[in-house]
Amino acid sequence: MAHATPLAGQVALVTGASRGIGAAIARELGAAGATVVVNYASSPAAAEAVVAGIVAAGGSAWAHQANVADEEQVEAMVKTVLEKEGRLDVLVNNAGITRDGLLMRMKTADWQSVIDLNLTGVFLCTRAVSRSMLKARSGRIINITSVVGLMGNAGQANYSAAKAGVIGLTRSNAAEFAARGVTVNAVAPGFIESDMTADLDKEPIIKAIPMGRMGSAAEVAGAVRFLAADPAAAYMTGQVLQVDGGMVMR
Ligand code: NAP
Repeated sequence: MAHATPLAGQVALVTGASRGIGAAIARELGAAGATVVVNYASSPAAAEAVVAGIVAAGGSAWAHQANVADEEQVEAMVKTVLEKEGRLDVLVNNAGITRDGLLMRMKTADWQSVIDLNLTGVFLCTRAVSRSMLKARSGRIINITSVVGLMGNAGQANYSAAKAGVIGLTRSNAAEFAARGVTVNAVAPGFIESDMTADLDKEPIIKAIPMGRMGSAAEVAGAVRFLAADPAAAYMTGQVLQVDGGMVMR
């Protein structure tokens, strides 16, 4: 039987964990025994509610505000985690935004802000944790990409380019870190119920999903828990795990 708390004694940092998929990942890793650092950008009350939920369930967590697109804030966040906890075992790069629009009318600022957060943010957080993980010769990095990064999507040139970039980054980092005991994998959700998808027209989306429904944040969190846990995913690196109800089969 799988161990109920495979992450006991470990520390996990989840970016963008105040809402949606990140909040579900934080709860899942907390239930798996990790001390969870709940990163957020602008929702302190929501982040504290996630912390309170993990603690009420018998786990351990605290919140830390940082914009993951800001190099100084990312470096300071990781320094704080290492000073407070003395270790950092799992990084989940989850924070993400959309600024959709057709390419011809897409504002440069909307291109840049999505690349800065969804792609450069993953680079900054990964680089910031790499020194301590490589030194410890152990660590799990899990990047939340999207099926849109695999197949493209009209109206999401910025988002799909960033998410495809995350897949390239995942594979390159996996190759760099493999010999030092650090794995790097990605999870590619399809359409998941969250604030990000709240305003979308659901009918055509659901028609394109063989399972005939959108996914839940908890279903993405289950895949992240698997990738974070030992020994379950110990021999997996550079992989993209799709959680999409069969939407993209390749
Ligand atoms: P969401 O509900 O909109 O939540 C986004 C989270 O990111 C919030 O916790 C937000 O924090 C945080 N965030 C935003 N800007 C940030 C910044 N500059 N620094 C740090 N954190 C920041 O989104 P979601 O649907 O849960 O998506 C989570 C991830 O899954 C994203 O990477 C997204 O691209 C990916 N994804 C989602 C779907 C889907 O269908 N929902 C599908 C595929 C992939 P605040 O609350 O503080 O603003």
